[in-house]
Amino acid sequence: MIIQIKCQHCNQEFEDEALERTVFCPHCGKETSVRENQTPRTFSQPAIASTYAKNQKINPNEIRKTAGMFVGTAIVFGILGLVGLVFTILMVFGQENVEPVVISSSFTGAAIAIAFWFYLIGQIIHIRANTHKD
Ligand SMILES: [Zn+2]
Repeated sequence: MIIQIKCQHCNQEFEDEALERTVFCPHCGKETSVRENQTPRTFSQPAIASTYAKNQKINPNEIRKTAGMFVGTAIVFGILGLVGLVFTILMVFGQENVEPVVISSSFTGAAIAIAFWFYLIGQIIHIRANTHKD
């Protein structure tokens, strides 16, 4: 739930998800209690995103590094998926048994799915890092 919080130190108001008992005020940077002045708020994404980013003191370069890690993992799984794909195709033509082909194609499918999701997550993180304003 998004609530409006009044900072105990500078009296400025801001919105936060209030997952913890205290949050860092985006105005003065000090820790303040979220228990006071709790007013439910309508969902406002930009306010939350900026408050969240400031509270967490997110460094855009750190985010990009994380995004790079996800994309890197995606590439590794993508390569595994491609190797699996080639392996599966070779097996389809070379094997009489169905079982190894099934195992190989399952592995290939899983690797490609993981690669796809990691790449997607990496891109989302990257986009968020790029739209982050301080
Ligand atoms: Zn404050």
